[in-house]
Amino acid sequence: MNLLEDQIERYSRQIILKDIGGVGQATLLDSTVFILGAGGLGSPAALYLAAAGVGRLLIADSDRVELSNLQRQILHTTSRVGEAKVLSAKKALGDINPDIEVITISERITQQNVASMLDRCDLVLDGSDNFATRYLLNEACLKQKKMLISAAVLGFEGQIATFAHGVDPKAPCYRCLFPNPPQFAPTCSSAGVLGAVVGTVGTMQAAEAIKLLLGIGQNLIGSMLLINAFDNIFHNISIPKLQECPTCGG
Ligand SMILES: [Zn+2]
Repeated sequence: MNLLEDQIERYSRQIILKDIGGVGQATLLDSTVFILGAGGLGSPAALYLAAAGVGRLLIADSDRVELSNLQRQILHTTSRVGEAKVLSAKKALGDINPDIEVITISERITQQNVASMLDRCDLVLDGSDNFATRYLLNEACLKQKKMLISAAVLGFEGQIATFAHGVDPKAPCYRCLFPNPPQFAPTCSSAGVLGAVVGTVGTMQAAEAIKLLLGIGQNLIGSMLLINAFDNIFHNISIPKLQECPTCGG
C-alpha cells in the first residue's frame, strides 16, 4: 500500500519514528481493531487509534449518551446527550480523521453474536465494565485466536494487560487472572472514578494496540501494569498461566 501525499503529512510525526516509518503506517492503515464499549476506556482508545490512522475501527456499544458520562467519556458531547453512543463516537472520530472507516455495532454483545463481531478484526480491545462481559470476550478471543487488550479502572487506580492465549498456548488468558468473579466488585457508578485515570488507561490500551499491530516494543502479554495515580505508583506484575483455569486450563 502506497501512502498518499496528505496521509504522509497527517501521520508525519509517527512516520518519522524509526520503529514505525512508512511501512508501519501502511500496516496501521490496513488494520482492524474491535473496541468493546464507547465509554470511559473506549473513548480515548478510539480517539488515539483513529488519529493514528488505524484503518478500520469496529465499535460496539448499545447505550445512549448520558450527562453523567461526559466527565470521562470524551468521545461524547453535551449536545449529543440522548444519542446512541456508537453514532456519537462515529461523529467524533470522523471529525478527527475522515481517512479511516468506523463501523458501528449498536447491539449488546452476547454468546450468539460475539463470534461475528470479532470475525473481521486483528485485535480486540476491552472497554467493558463487568466480569460477565470480560469472560465472554476472553472465551471468544481464545476460540477466534485474537489477542485481547483488557483494562479496568476504579477511583484513582487502573490496570491493563494483554491476553494472548488464543495465539500462544503458553500465555495466560483473562480467566487465569480472575478464575472466578469476585463476590463484591465495586463499580465506577457505585464507587466513582477520576476521568483522567480512565483516560490514561484507555490511552495505554491504544499504545499497546499500535505496538501489537506493528510487532514492536515491549508488550503486556503475560504481565499487567497497575497504575495508582493517587500515589503516583506504577507496577508491572507478571500473570502466570493457571493450569486449572476454567477457560484455558487442562
Ligand atoms: Zn486461562
